[in-house]
Amino acid sequence: MKTIKDFNFKDKKALVRVDFNVPLDADFNVTDTTRLKAAKPTIIKILEDGGSAVLMSHLGRPKGVEDKFSLRHIVKTTSEILGVEVKFAGATVGADAEAAVAALEPGQVLLLENVRFFAEETKGDEEFAAQLAKLGDVYVNDAFGTAHRAHASTTIVAKHFEDKFAGFVIEAELVNADRVLKGGDKPVTAIMGGAKVSDKILIIEKLLDVADTIIIGGGMSYTFAKAEGGTIGNSLCQDDLLDYVLELEQKAKDKGVELVFPIDNLLGDDFSNDANTQVVLRGQIPDGWEGFDIGPQTIEKFSKIITESKTVIWNGPMGVSEIPLYATGTIEVAKAVKAATENGAFSLIGGGDSAAAINNLGFGDDVSYVSTGGGALLEYMEGKTLPGIAALEA
Ligand code: AMP
Repeated sequence: MKTIKDFNFKDKKALVRVDFNVPLDADFNVTDTTRLKAAKPTIIKILEDGGSAVLMSHLGRPKGVEDKFSLRHIVKTTSEILGVEVKFAGATVGADAEAAVAALEPGQVLLLENVRFFAEETKGDEEFAAQLAKLGDVYVNDAFGTAHRAHASTTIVAKHFEDKFAGFVIEAELVNADRVLKGGDKPVTAIMGGAKVSDKILIIEKLLDVADTIIIGGGMSYTFAKAEGGTIGNSLCQDDLLDYVLELEQKAKDKGVELVFPIDNLLGDDFSNDANTQVVLRGQIPDGWEGFDIGPQTIEKFSKIITESKTVIWNGPMGVSEIPLYATGTIEVAKAVKAATENGAFSLIGGGDSAAAINNLGFGDDVSYVSTGGGALLEYMEGKTLPGIAALEA
């Protein structure tokens, strides 16, 4: 894979796919600038070479043109973070966008309007991609979070360019994922959580080859508990996977990988912050109750394993971490990952809710790497080809 390090952008207009899909509050202030900051090194490298950058991104899931999803809302914050005035094109493709690009001087940055204002974007439309391709001399993809999608701006557009490169974000994502996949320092511990077993099957199968221990928490753990004969009340369960999870347990045993499950669970009688709660041992959940978090004994056990690890990968919360009442397990795991890192471990946080937990606690700089793309990271680690990356090599 060619990266932007291999190229001098002097006098080039670089069409750069960034991931500026940032959260906005009701007044359209950016509430988490992680992705803007992540894109900065790539953009600055282009400018410092003497080139200019034409940035394209999606924001949210608009249905056609919807002002609340306009990228104009982020222009000011992006300018502040880059330390360079960002011009806003007000158009994604067409004559206005082309005129704005034509007027761009070396050292300048232009932001195009939301690529998803066009349904053609997610369809990977050839004609739309050809129009985008008119807006640069070279193509850079640095949007790791959408690299697993064959959209017009992430993949299809690349075929129009001779010179096409991965930016620093994509490079860092792959280097950090490979560090785990190629076998990190031992003991290697994977922490899996989140709602569904089905979303994590392929990654767990892959991790069986590199991990010493796989911790299983979150909503997905109740399918295992039920398969082992426990009662789980109203907890999340994928009944169609009951046989499969037992096979997985056997497979882990055969490979000498320890699957570690919760000892106890925090139950609630409602999916809300003022529910009644109780703690019971795993697999002993009464009717009318639902497992929403790991319990205190589990926290202690998981934390010990994590802090004694030398490589840690974490994907998925230990409970319903968006509700404070059920966030303790996820917070304590985040603390353990931080502690492991302080003890010299390499720690990779796999996007989504686990990244949110780390960032909300202010631990972003206390772990080795926080992925900017949950789904894309999982697919890469599962061994799938990411179309946005393959397109740079074609
Ligand atoms: P995922 O996207 O698969 O990583 O899952 C994240 C979602 O799983 C979050 O929205 C959590 O609220 C949810 N989740 C985690 N644990 C539980 C649980 N015990 N019961 C219900 N939902 C859960």
